[in-house]
Amino acid sequence: MKKYTIAMVAHDAKKEAMVELAKKNKEKLSKLNLVATKTTGQLIWDNTGIPVTLLQSGPMGGDQQVGAMVAEGKLDAVIFLRDPLFAQPHEPDISALMRVCDVHNTALATNLATAESVLNLLFEKAGL
Ligand code: PGA
Repeated sequence: MKKYTIAMVAHDAKKEAMVELAKKNKEKLSKLNLVATKTTGQLIWDNTGIPVTLLQSGPMGGDQQVGAMVAEGKLDAVIFLRDPLFAQPHEPDISALMRVCDVHNTALATNLATAESVLNLLFEKAGL
């Protein structure tokens, strides 16, 4: 069975929500490959025990690294919990990441409701 790979990114205002999402889906998530920007990934790892491939922090280029993985066809989905209220210093990288997901038709969830849907779809596809 194919092992799905999913990238996770959360802005500071959404990190707690991302950790809750990961904890809630811990068992099934542990059967996927997880990739994340540095702080988000470390929090997921610490709170669930699931090993996460850590990229650079978002402001240091992590979003661009996720975008490159999308362009290379290495990701099955991206969960990107953005802060919709405040512009981030690395806003151009964020827009670029969303754009490349659309270019490559890669599932992109930007809020908890779609994140749950995307996860459930992947879990189903993975037979979990
Ligand atoms: P972080 O990066 O997980 O390292 O905080 C996320 C972001 O701000 O894009």
